[in-house]
Amino acid sequence: MVGVDRIGEGPRSVIVVGAGIVGLSTAWFLQERGVEVTVVDRAGVAAGSSWGNAGWVSPALTIPLNQPGTLTYGLRSLFNPAAPLHIPLRADLRLARFLATFARHCNHAGVERVVRGNHDLNIESLEAFDVLVANGVDAPVTDAAITALFENEAQARELRAEIDVLERAGLPVQTELLTGDALRDAVPLAGPTATVALAVEQQRFIDPGRFVTALGRAVVERGATLRTERIVDISTAGRVVLRTSAGEALTADAVVLATGAWLPDLARRWVRVPLRAGRGYSFTVPLERPMPGPIYLPTVRVACTPYHGGMRVAGTMEFRGPDDPVVPARVRSIVDSASRFLHGARWSERSDVWVGPRPVTADGLPVVGQVADGLYVAGGHGMWGLAHGPVTGRMLTEQITTGKQPDALRAFDPLR
Ligand SMILES: Cc1cc2nc3c(=O)[nH]c(=O)nc-3n(C[C@H](O)[C@H](O)[C@H](O)COP(=O)(O)OP(=O)(O)OC[C@H]3O[C@@H](n4cnc5c(N)ncnc54)[C@H](O)[C@@H]3O)c2cc1C
Repeated sequence: MVGVDRIGEGPRSVIVVGAGIVGLSTAWFLQERGVEVTVVDRAGVAAGSSWGNAGWVSPALTIPLNQPGTLTYGLRSLFNPAAPLHIPLRADLRLARFLATFARHCNHAGVERVVRGNHDLNIESLEAFDVLVANGVDAPVTDAAITALFENEAQARELRAEIDVLERAGLPVQTELLTGDALRDAVPLAGPTATVALAVEQQRFIDPGRFVTALGRAVVERGATLRTERIVDISTAGRVVLRTSAGEALTADAVVLATGAWLPDLARRWVRVPLRAGRGYSFTVPLERPMPGPIYLPTVRVACTPYHGGMRVAGTMEFRGPDDPVVPARVRSIVDSASRFLHGARWSERSDVWVGPRPVTADGLPVVGQVADGLYVAGGHGMWGLAHGPVTGRMLTEQITTGKQPDALRAFDPLR
């Protein structure tokens, strides 16, 4: 076990349930404080949303989902299964409750609240990645501009207005409007539909599967035990005790539930904010032109990232069960919408089709903190859990080891 001096009477041993970016980051930072960590995942490292996502570590683009326009967009999508936001029409009381609460937060006040709440995560997110990489997490983190493509300048100005809200909250963001040759130089894949681009400077991207695997390896090398078990029940009478599907009881001084979109299965008793799987898809396509950096297609909600010599294409938000199978029509709709903007990609040769569940809360804010004696939750980061995972782990570790809730976590109180 590595670590510096333990602080006060904090826990000596912690079980982290969930080996995604959030759980493993928490495990890593707990180890920095000398805590003995066990990580338990039902399927191993990066088995959930942390695998096939777009890999953007982009504080400047953490634009809340609960925009006023999302509601109208969502209503239209009810009747269009190819829309980027898809809500299946079916009787599901929990989904209905989630959507009703989400709708109440789709307004300017709701957006401001999310932006203010996430501000400290945004300010510290890149540094938290730096700390991991400087201390043995062996995976590249690449600096790049993320360039958004549009059919006209009005659309580019809309994105800039959404970024302005983050900037007014205190996040410095540098953007540049590009047209003509400058646009084609920045994005050689841009087809004729793309006439205007907005380059969002000084962001980063990673191969998320590789990064989270390296993080898992680092946590094990630093002394953690990694167990493949599904947790099916929790008892908090006295000490926190977890029960595995094999019937075994696991216990430690404290437990962190970081089970992504599956969080309600274990935490519903304590966490009242509705949380659902907002499923997204990704796949990889070979390229015939260079791709210097990530490309964003805001009008069709698609994110593209350089990946293994080709391009990972990610998109859609579909409110289905986290373990439901791939719906091939969703993949086709991403291809149809993205290929309008991007030429020089061999769309028909796509591989690695993946679906993963973003953990989306109905009020747009993560749930991070204590829910009972010795029991903590960490999740609900929605579209930005990769970027916000490491800094969340660092802040939650502060709370677990000192017993004091950092100011930055107040807005995320899971008992709100
Ligand atoms: C298409 C797509 C693109 C995205 N792009 C980006 C992006 O560019 N940038 C960004 O910041 N974010 C992005 N995201 C969001 C990001 O992927 C998620 O917010 C983040 O991965 C959530 O991490 P997590 O650790 O909370 O959950 P997960 O990675 O889902 O991990 C949860 C883990 O818990 C385990 N588990 C669940 N239940 C149990 C149980 N009962 N017992 C034991 N283990 C259990 C699962 O096996 C899983 O490994 C994207 C998401 C998608 C779907």
